[in-house]
Amino acid sequence: MRIENDLKLGFSDVLFRPKRSTLNSRSQVELTRDFTFKHSGSQWSGVPVIAANMDSVGSFAMAQALAEHQVMTAIHKHYSIAEWASFLESADEKLLNYVMVSTGTSERDFQKLTEILQLSSHIKFVCIDIANGYSEHLVEFVQKVRETFSDKVITAGNVVTGDMVEELILAGADIVKVGIGPGSVCTTRVKTGVGYPQLSAIIECGDAAHGLGGRIIGDGGCTCAGDVAKAFGGGADFVMLGGLLAGHDQSGGDIVEKNGQKFVHFYGMSSASAMKKYAGGVANYRAAEGKTVLLPYRGSVHNTIEDILGGVRSTCTYVGAAKLKELTKRTTFIRVQEQENTIFG
Ligand code: 5GP
Repeated sequence: MRIENDLKLGFSDVLFRPKRSTLNSRSQVELTRDFTFKHSGSQWSGVPVIAANMDSVGSFAMAQALAEHQVMTAIHKHYSIAEWASFLESADEKLLNYVMVSTGTSERDFQKLTEILQLSSHIKFVCIDIANGYSEHLVEFVQKVRETFSDKVITAGNVVTGDMVEELILAGADIVKVGIGPGSVCTTRVKTGVGYPQLSAIIECGDAAHGLGGRIIGDGGCTCAGDVAKAFGGGADFVMLGGLLAGHDQSGGDIVEKNGQKFVHFYGMSSASAMKKYAGGVANYRAAEGKTVLLPYRGSVHNTIEDILGGVRSTCTYVGAAKLKELTKRTTFIRVQEQENTIFG
């Protein structure tokens, strides 16, 4: 047994230290980024925020709404081929620039991925997603997808340490998805005792990926716009959001009324709710590692995304970053023991 003694940090352990700046308005801040990806050689320009591939976040409707903000959506893997076909009929190239196809790593998943990609050559991104990215099987699957779809931008995860980031990039991933345990409806840390504070995971994994010309997505744990900014400040190239984008018109999920108020069910993709819906129940060899919550219904996602992007723009002005790309360079985090004043709730 070994113990690592250096402290690992989450978003709530730090704040940005403000810096002198010549920017006087957040409208001067550029949030779009241009990337050329390592293996695919593909280029992409957009605002590097991604709606999570959860079935009550990463919907086709979400993609249509967020593309207007140049924000990406990882479409969840439970749509049928027929549903994809009808979405793709009306989707233009611009919209598909902001869409990722999600897949698991089984033979059936590979078949389905192949069929979806055959429907449109304009789909650029594939998101290979399993809860435990440390499985050898993921590495082999990434290699197979890279060999078969050499021009696609491949995202793979989830992992939280530099060694595994490197292995996935060397196997053919352009982008590695980082995060085990920080999610809003995730119970992995309590069910298994496994996890890694998300800001440290981003800092360490970003460093490993950038050394090899790869990119990372900070996935999970953002509870507010400030956390999204901290993820970028720590070195995330992209930030993936689940809970922050759930509960909207575009999120999917049924609206229920209770005492005259509207709510929406939101659940983890390995929760009992999701397993019941897609796998006929929780298999007896595994525990559910996600929870189900009832969120107040929040209307259209447009206001929420504008609010989040506005917050990140404002962070940039506080530290003097004219572009999101400069934010990490301009970031000094201070360790803190308090965040906001909660006297009024
Ligand atoms: P959030 O932005 O809500 O904090 O985190 C979203 C992320 O949580 C997702 O992108 C995914 O990586 C993770 N996640 C979603 N569902 C589950 C689940 O049931 N269990 C676990 N462990 N993680 C989940």
